[in-house]
Parts: sequence; C-alpha cells; structure tokens
Amino acid sequence: MHRTHTCGELNLKHAGQTVTLSGWLARSRDLGGMTFIDLRDRYGITQLVFNMDTNKALCESARKLGREFVLKVSGKVAERSNKNPKIPTGEIEIIVEKLDVLNEAITPPFTIEDETDGGEDLRMKYRYLDLRRNPVRENLFLRAKLAAETRNYLNSIGFIEVETPVLIKSTPEGARDFVVPSRVNPGQFFALPQSPQTFKQLLMVSGFDKYYQVVKCFRDEDLRADRQPEFTQIDCEMSFVERNDVLDTFEGLTRHLFKKVKGIDIPKMAHMSYDDAMKNYGSDKPDIRFEMKFVELNTLVQNKGFKVFDSSELVVGICAKGCAEYTRKQLDELTEWVKRPQIGMQGLVYAKYNTDRTIKSSVDKFYNADELKKWAQAFGAKEGDLMLVLAGEKNKTRKALSELRLEMGGRLGLRNKDVYACHWVVDFPLLEWNGESNRWHAMHHPFTSPNPEDVSKLESDPGSVKANAYDLVINGVEIGGGSIRIHDKKLQQQMFKVLGFTPGQAQAQFGFLLNAFEYGAPPHGGIAFGFDRLCALFGGQESIRDFIAFPKNNAARDVMIDAPSEIEETQLKELKIKLEK
Ligand code: ASP
Repeated sequence: MHRTHTCGELNLKHAGQTVTLSGWLARSRDLGGMTFIDLRDRYGITQLVFNMDTNKALCESARKLGREFVLKVSGKVAERSNKNPKIPTGEIEIIVEKLDVLNEAITPPFTIEDETDGGEDLRMKYRYLDLRRNPVRENLFLRAKLAAETRNYLNSIGFIEVETPVLIKSTPEGARDFVVPSRVNPGQFFALPQSPQTFKQLLMVSGFDKYYQVVKCFRDEDLRADRQPEFTQIDCEMSFVERNDVLDTFEGLTRHLFKKVKGIDIPKMAHMSYDDAMKNYGSDKPDIRFEMKFVELNTLVQNKGFKVFDSSELVVGICAKGCAEYTRKQLDELTEWVKRPQIGMQGLVYAKYNTDRTIKSSVDKFYNADELKKWAQAFGAKEGDLMLVLAGEKNKTRKALSELRLEMGGRLGLRNKDVYACHWVVDFPLLEWNGESNRWHAMHHPFTSPNPEDVSKLESDPGSVKANAYDLVINGVEIGGGSIRIHDKKLQQQMFKVLGFTPGQAQAQFGFLLNAFEYGAPPHGGIAFGFDRLCALFGGQESIRDFIAFPKNNAARDVMIDAPSEIEETQLKELKIKLEK
C-alpha cells in the first residue's frame, strides 16, 4: 500500500497512529541531531522527523535525499512541540520508522514554492513542475469547481451538454481561422471552430431547446494577457426565448457561481445601453465599481477663444475626487501618460478645485473664475477635487478618457478586486464600418438579429441599426456575449448582402445554415462566457494563463512541447503541400 492518508489530512486526533504517506520532498532541514522533511502532495504538507539518536541509519539516508524525490514513509503521528498554525497539519509530525525512495529527481530548474525564483519562460518550459506549486494548482482547482458548478446549474434547469465537432468549416467570429489540411481530400482544409456558433443554432433547429457545452474555441489572433489562441467558452443556446429570458437565465448562472464558489450574493444586474456606456464611460465594458462618469463640456467651453476646444468634436472630462492636491509634477506626469502612443492624446487640461474654493486650471488664460465655477458645477466637483479634461475626435477621446478613468480609479483604490460589479450592456450597434475592407462588418457575428424596429433601416441606414445583442460585464471585463439570432432565411440573406457577400458566396459558406432555416427554425438566442476570463476574475488576477494547465506563451508557442514545429517531408507529400522556401 502506498499510503494510508494524504499529506494534508493528519492532525492531533491521529496522534499515536502508525501511518504511511507518499509524496514529494518539498524541503529538508538538518538541525543537529534531527532532520526534518516537508513531504508534499496535492492535499498539503506533512512534517517528517528523523532522529540521529534513535535511528542513525535512517536519519543518514534521509539526509541524502534531494528536493522533489518521491518518497514513501511509515511512522507514528506525534504532537509537535513547535506548532505551525498556518497549515492544517501544523500540530503534528511523523516520527519516521521506514523510508522508501520511490523515485529520485534531478534538481528542479526553479524552486517549487509559492514565491518561486523561476521566471515565466522557465516555468512554462517546465509547466509540469510549475503545476506542483500551490498558487497555480489552486487556480486549476478553482477552474474545476467553476466548471462543475456551471454544469450543475445548467443541468438543473434542463440544459443538455452536446459536443460539436472540432474539424469544421470557418465560423465567422471575426478572427483568423486555424486551418487543418485534409489528407483524404487533398487541397482542402478544415477550420477549427472560433466558436460552435453555427452548430448550436442547428441544434435549435433540431429541437434541443436548451444546449450548452464547455468547449475549446480557436482564434488566430495577436495575444494579450487575456487572450490565448485556444481558449474555453461556456457556450449556450436556447429556443423560444426573447432577450430577457436569456439574460435572466445567465444572470442566474452568474449568481449561482458567485454564491457557490465565493459565497458572495450578487444583486440584480442593471441593463445599460451601449450608447450610454460609450457616453458615460467611453467603453462598451465599463468598470462600474466606481462612478467617475464622463461629463461632456462642449456647450460650456467652446467659443471662448481656446482653439483646442473650439476645433474639437468632443470636449469631455472626469472628476477625480480628492486629487486637487496633485503637484505640478504629478500633473505633468499624467499629461505625459495621456500622450503615450497607446493613449494618443495631444494634451490634458486640468482644473483644481482648491480647498480655499478657488479654481486653478491649466487654461486660466481662456476661462475666468466664474466660468471655471460652471465647470465645477457640471462635474459636481467639490473642494479638493481635480477635473481632468480631454478634447478631440469623439471616439478617440472617449477611448482615451476611459483609460484615464480606469487609471485614476486604480490610483484612488476604487478598483478593489474583492468587489464585484456585474451588469449587462445591451443594444449594441449591429454593424461597424471597416475602413480597411471598405465594408460593413458584423459587430457581433452575422447571425445576430437586428432589433425588430430597425429591420427596415438595414439597407438604407445600416450604421443606425441596433442589434439584439448583449454582453455581461464584470469589473470592466467582458465575461460573456451573445444575441438573439436571425431565424428567418430571408433576413439572414439580407444580412449577408449588407455584409458584402454575394448570394453565391453566402450559399457556399453558410448554405447549410440557410438551408436548415427552411425546415422550421424556432426563434432562438444564446450567449457564450469566456471561461478562462471568468476563472481569472474569480481568482482575482488579470492574466488567464495561470488558469490554463498548459497555456501558450505570448508568441503563441507551447514552449514545453515545443509546438508548433515542422513536420516530416512525407507528411507534407501526403497532404500535397509544398512549402515556400
Ligand atoms: N459565438 C459567440 C461568441 O463566441 C457567442 C454567442 O453569440 O453566443 O462570441
């Protein structure tokens, strides 16, 4: 028998029992006549003791063991004199009577500790060792718990999990496809799904009514901290539903997860229109843990002789509470911050509402005290507050101010990661103009239904059409997105036309869906949650990488298995593929 207990299990109640444990040598310390070893497994750490006086031979062999050796020990559970209240097994130790080395280990390239000395690259190369570390292991346990609770909840309300294929035809989620050559059909390629979008809609045509799948999706995009080329979605679809049916169902799932996994009650979620989100926060995924809403100043500040404001499409600002004390140096630094290429503004205007009720601004030349008082009124600014104003082209300025708002929110400690603010953003535009391809693109995907009252404008004024689409936003992170779908073949064809597909192209790419729509498609809609992001959010971290067992690095490589890699000439021949030299 390899073990009677795990390394996280024993306590004072077991004192006097003879037990057998197996695990890895995490740490060892020689203290004069005694040797202590921390034995580690998935469940915890147990202290082992070897005594020179009572068992010299055994103690000497214990002293020769290296880090990460795999051991099996038997001995008696004894009360510790030097207790460690931080770990569950901290009150006991094992007086070892028998020691077996199950396997030796070479010295690991970094320390297997919570705070390791290994850099990211090294940890990724030896990910199997990294996964022995508590923080990473705990992340994966959190992930497993979230997946299990997702399934519990959705199963309990009648959803059925259906697997959909991985070798498919392109799905239009707006990214590049990963493609797989077909040997049996030379010159032809499968695409890996960017999502199971078309399949879940077909399942609705089949009558499945409520589908979900915890599923891998693949998108060939440039990577960021919250993106991986392969990632996981909680993908769902429902029939005979309207928007609020979907929102209520997935609000329920979200609440269930917070309650079960974090013990937090999430209040009823507000619905915010896309237009309001953009106007008030400059973002379609605003972080509403804090207010700091945008205040538009055009009518107040234009035509007073300040050219920069006069020539700007939008003059807009935020009020940072209690920041009037900012020094010149801090304000200069903030100005440099908005001028960085990532933000791209020309400059930053400020007005400090001093505690003596005077207002000092960087544009005093153009605005007198009375006018600045009006600014303060518009901002609802009080003594001690700092008004920060940006000006320029509308979308760009909103985006920049949104970044500045988040930065100021962070500086003011308003983005506490233990506080969760969840809400829905609804009524997205259906289409966005793409200057590069010179055509309309679907903002969500081409199967999203326009709001019924806007259908008539689809061809005459596409830019004004709102979509019956929604996003779940938590703490400024887009956790989920979905829509009510088009279920009518004619409307779907019209949509493809607006997106610049000829009827032939639409038929060639999505004929299977258009045909299915002729056989009685029910009204349907759905949503997908980014599962990796959800895990990172629950774990209080930004990077999704540490919530994925074997992630890719930011050059889209798996450095552990060294993939992607070249393939054999014979494989290429079989596939009838010639590489460019
Ligand atoms: N397939 C969509 C996506 O991956 C989600 C949905 O519309 O249900 O974003």
